Amino acid sequence: MQPLLSVVIPVFNEAPVLEACYQRLVAATGSLSMRLEFVFVDDGSSDGSVQLLTDLRSRDARIALVELSRNFGKEVALTAGLDHAAGDAVIIIDADLQDPPELIPDFVAAWQEGYDVVYGQRASRAGESWLKLKTASWFYRVMNALSDVPIPNDTGDFRLLSRRAVGALGELREKHRYMKGLYAWIGFPQKALRYHREPRAAGETKWNYWRLWNFALEGITSFSTAPLRFATYLGAVTSLAAFLYAIFFLFRTLILGNPVPGYPSLIVIMLFLGGVQLLCLGIIGEYLGRTYGESKSRSLYFTKGYHPAALDPADVHG
Ligand code: UDP
Ligand code: MG
Repeated sequence: MQPLLSVVIPVFNEAPVLEACYQRLVAATGSLSMRLEFVFVDDGSSDGSVQLLTDLRSRDARIALVELSRNFGKEVALTAGLDHAAGDAVIIIDADLQDPPELIPDFVAAWQEGYDVVYGQRASRAGESWLKLKTASWFYRVMNALSDVPIPNDTGDFRLLSRRAVGALGELREKHRYMKGLYAWIGFPQKALRYHREPRAAGETKWNYWRLWNFALEGITSFSTAPLRFATYLGAVTSLAAFLYAIFFLFRTLILGNPVPGYPSLIVIMLFLGGVQLLCLGIIGEYLGRTYGESKSRSLYFTKGYHPAALDPADVHG
């Protein structure tokens, strides 16, 4: 029997693009000599996306629908999709058609060559602001300087994962899921394919700068303890500076006597030290908060409905 390809699509209020998304996916995968399954994960949409997906499913039995109990965010929606995908290879793609489905056959070809992770790498990003591009590029640079596993630049979630890569990812149940880091962390032979990222087909992006900033914090704290070390060094440097300043004062007092000035320097030093202490406490707090999050062994998500695709029961991987 032909191998099975699962396509996982996270959906959060994507009603305007779903039909186009489905059409393009079907067109792009038509030439593959693989059986297909389209796993749509509804991440708590409130705009009728679910109804549209249910309609699509009644037209095409290869569609599976996983309904999460609320909006859990894209990372968790993807994890739910991977958990429910039965394929020998699994494609992850955004619903908004920013990732071209036409690349899927190339992904599959690389998988057949033996790669476990084939990821799209953006050669360009149309329709995104200069500021977003710049901040993204800085972020990747900082991230790679800090993290232990190299995380490839300009990649998103658009990729193909082999069955064993999906299995490996599935074992990582951490609550703070920085997916780009996790894909890199699992290892296995990986390959990049360059592509041009399109602007959104319709609907609106769910990202804003606040969300991106939190995403960046997530990435750094999930893959590096460098900020904690930074706190240590900052403490060491300020102590050293304070020590040198003390020596300076000792000699100045011995030579010039003590005419009791120094109110401005006192205030400046106190405020500075207070600031440094709060900063370091904040850094510790970021990590402590995440440890707390992980220590509550809550499930990653709940599903309120799962409607599988019509597949031959012989080849479901469980
Ligand atoms: N998405 C999701 N849950 C969310 C936010 C987004 O499942 O809470 C999905 C969304 O439907 C889309 C993909 O994740 O398929 C990418 O979202 P978006 O286009 O808003 O992000 P961007 O492309 O701007 O990074
Ligand atoms: Mg998008």
